[in-house]
Amino acid sequence: MQAQHDAKVAKGLKKLANPEPLDCIFCKIVAGQIPSDKVYEDDRILAFRDLNPQAPVHLLVMPRKHIASLNEAGPDDRAVLGHLLVTLPKLAEQLGVESGYRVVNNCGALAGQSVFHIHFHLLGGRSMSWPPG
Ligand code: 5GP
Ligand code: ZN
Repeated sequence: MQAQHDAKVAKGLKKLANPEPLDCIFCKIVAGQIPSDKVYEDDRILAFRDLNPQAPVHLLVMPRKHIASLNEAGPDDRAVLGHLLVTLPKLAEQLGVESGYRVVNNCGALAGQSVFHIHFHLLGGRSMSWPPG
């Protein structure tokens, strides 16, 4: 009984430390409050087309859970982030770009992150240069 209570309190505290902001557009996409062109979803992750595509195939793949960026990901997020990573090649295959695609995570404003709900860009369908800008 006490252990159950403690677990509940710990969960509540974790939620406080990692809130789902009312103004997070990707949380709104998860909740279906903002429409998106979804290509895949399951109980843990969601993949949809970027509104402003930078390649013929440009998906955003993210956990349903609000994690602001890679810097905020903790040990509890290993499973969902691992699941996300191993789903990427399946999505690339589904969209016909498995022979070459790029996965990008912008972490922090300096790196170009503009939406602070962790997401991975999957880009394909054109040749790409290196290093990125
Ligand atoms: P970031 O700059 O944070 O790495 O990537 C955010 C991405 O989200 C950008 O490529 C931007 O085009 C995309 N984006 C922003 N708002 C929306 C939206 O409401 N719907 C969709 N599908 N993409 C969005
Ligand atoms: Zn969010």
